[in-house]
Amino acid sequence: MKSAPFEYAAPSTIGDALQILAENDPDEVKLMAGGQSLMPLLNMRLARPELVLDLGRIADLDYIRETDAGVAIGAMTTKRAVEESDLIRQQHPLFWESTVAIGHPQIRNRGTVGGSMAQADPASEYPAAAIALDVEMVVQGASGERIIAAEDFFVTYLTTALEPGEILTEVRIPRLQPGTGWAFDEVARRHGDFAIVGAVATLALEGGVIRDPRLVIFGAADRALRLRAAEEAVAGRPVSDETFDGTAAPIAQAVEDPLSDVHASEEYRRHLAVVLGGRVLRVAASRAGGGE
Ligand SMILES: Cc1cc2nc3c(=O)[nH]c(=O)nc-3n(C[C@H](O)[C@H](O)[C@H](O)COP(=O)(O)OP(=O)(O)OC[C@H]3O[C@@H](n4cnc5c(N)ncnc54)[C@H](O)[C@@H]3O)c2cc1C
Repeated sequence: MKSAPFEYAAPSTIGDALQILAENDPDEVKLMAGGQSLMPLLNMRLARPELVLDLGRIADLDYIRETDAGVAIGAMTTKRAVEESDLIRQQHPLFWESTVAIGHPQIRNRGTVGGSMAQADPASEYPAAAIALDVEMVVQGASGERIIAAEDFFVTYLTTALEPGEILTEVRIPRLQPGTGWAFDEVARRHGDFAIVGAVATLALEGGVIRDPRLVIFGAADRALRLRAAEEAVAGRPVSDETFDGTAAPIAQAVEDPLSDVHASEEYRRHLAVVLGGRVLRVAASRAGGGE
């Protein structure tokens, strides 16, 4: 199928993009980043915007920078650039592993960091990593700039806290505390497919006791879910099978109404969430304190 007709604009600055948004009904404008999710929606006529505003020529949105607080990534930075960044690989191996699990090289060549965050697919790797890493989303609109914590950014299926007329401009990943352990895992039918269910975790160890655990499951609900009850089940406890096995009940309870579709039943997704949740916490603990 071909898309319905639309006007097309490709500004070269963020200011010009905001100006175009201000001059049009923002509900009738679709921002385009890599187009990997948007183009199929246009071609299937599931989206029929009057205007497609292509961000692809805004060079100021394409960067990976080390900052005092961590790393800042421009929204139009491709996943391939993240994959090839030594800075990300060394400072944020969890974000790096999430990146290489996304699609295939062709998808990562075109798809952008901002596009995946704004798309907010519940089975996408980036939202889960962003919540676990306490990422901040920098957003610009007619009334200026605002910063949204990742946990507040992802609202439900394909829906974020972005208002019409706003552009996600930057993703800020705070530096991890030295010695933080991390882990990423997912189950997909084939490498490169969207995950059926995935999990990410970070934690610290202090005298053999777990501190500051973070556990996020994706692919099991309408958005990536931070599992606070499971975190509480391991926080302040020693690294042991008993500790990690204690997460099974709170994880199962937190994903009590998982998705059910042609790829997996509710029961299978709940089972995967329990297994992967326990596994990433174990692996994170084995890496905490600098050990692998
Ligand atoms: C075969 C295939 C396999 C894939 N596998 C995976 C996978 O395993 N995991 C995964 O996470 N993804 C996967 N994807 C999706 C891919 O990662 C897309 O790149 C991503 O979802 C969207 O990024 P994009 O830059 O192409 O954005 P686009 O498709 O251009 O835009 C996506 C949405 O975000 C909005 N948007 C884009 N940029 C901004 C911005 N800066 N500010 C505000 N709104 C914005 C657009 O308006 C649109 O609604 C796959 C895609 C394909 C085609």
